[in-house]
Amino acid sequence: MSQNIDLVIKSEFVDSYKDGYPLLSKESILNLDKLKTQGQILNLVDAKKKFIAQAYFGIQNKGYGWLLSLREDEKIDSSFFLYKFNEALKYREKFYADKSTTAFRMFNAEGDGIGGLSIDCFDGFYLITWYSEGIYTFKSEILKALKLSLNYKGIYEKKRFDTKGTYLDDADDFVCGVKASEPLIVKENDVNFAIYLDEGAMVGVFLDQREVRKTLRDKYAKGKTVLNTFSYTGAFSVFAALGGAKKTISVDLAKRSLPKTKEQFSINDIDVSMQDIIVEDVFNYFKYALRKKLLFDLVVLDPPSFARSKKHTFSASKDYVKLLKEAIQITSKNGVIVASTNASNFSMMTFRGFIDKAFKELKGRFKVQESFSLPQDFRVNPKFKEGNYLKVVFIKKLT
Ligand code: SAH
Repeated sequence: MSQNIDLVIKSEFVDSYKDGYPLLSKESILNLDKLKTQGQILNLVDAKKKFIAQAYFGIQNKGYGWLLSLREDEKIDSSFFLYKFNEALKYREKFYADKSTTAFRMFNAEGDGIGGLSIDCFDGFYLITWYSEGIYTFKSEILKALKLSLNYKGIYEKKRFDTKGTYLDDADDFVCGVKASEPLIVKENDVNFAIYLDEGAMVGVFLDQREVRKTLRDKYAKGKTVLNTFSYTGAFSVFAALGGAKKTISVDLAKRSLPKTKEQFSINDIDVSMQDIIVEDVFNYFKYALRKKLLFDLVVLDPPSFARSKKHTFSASKDYVKLLKEAIQITSKNGVIVASTNASNFSMMTFRGFIDKAFKELKGRFKVQESFSLPQDFRVNPKFKEGNYLKVVFIKKLT
């Protein structure tokens, strides 16, 4: 084994690393020229060469790597990873025991002690996401540990290396074990989802919205007309329909959303002909709905944090107020807007501020019914609050 490299940390950052802050920021490093190849194990030290923590070098848009251990003598090898995985499994015993949900996150990056690495479980198949070339250099140790800790049917991987976190399209995302059927049918609170583990960046469902979908189905959907915007594979529409919605309207720009949404309805025995699936820019649809004076009882807003279409650029931090104002105008009195964002660059408080502002500008009144952040399997590091990116608010429109 090569010697760890000493990386000198600027004095103003030393205390927060000692206290467990996990993200190695570029600004905190004094001798950047020491960083040569991603995957290097680093000994973070102070100006007097006193040990602070071990970290690895891996470039993401967030930073230059992640802290792994506050102990100098801890070896970063397959036993290190095995320990972390076993801890992660213990933390999720409830999920493994629950027969009504077979898809959940088994390992959530820095929340489980290793930034840049997440692992999702889909009915016994596991999907590893590597967020940097740095963490990918540990692939053989990580696979060895994973095979020891899990009963798995098959393992898949997604590489999201470049600094924007976008997916690198490899010919094959399959790693080992047996291949999953396509689609692979998993369950979430007794609802079916069709999952494709080897078909590009996204597999068909965002697991972090599990509690929101359940709440929508169990408490809000009955008898309602539901507009689901940025609908992707229609997960919210399926839950609304199963909760007794009168009708659902799903709107997404991507052509694939039409067959994908049809598929999600049909594997849940919902009559697709009763549901509308519209391939269109949401902002055009809002204009159309306003012109036709359409009103919806329930409107779901779940935009990407950043998106560019032919006519519009949408950035959650800049444009969410505008999006809310469009939605408010086509929501019936006493109707509910489910406002969601996965943008990590603003807080729940700021998000609540956007809601205030949108209603104020339209001279309307509202009441917050309930709100959500990440579910338990998306474990958050208490020293890294920005890791809790999900913000969802159920808003009742009063006037
Ligand atoms: N709400 C979905 C996830 C949304 S992912 C779910 O719960 O599964 C974001 C989606 O927004 C993508 O499917 C993308 O195609 C769509 N999208 C991005 N910009 C859009 C726009 N201007 N109009 C309509 N859809 C858009």
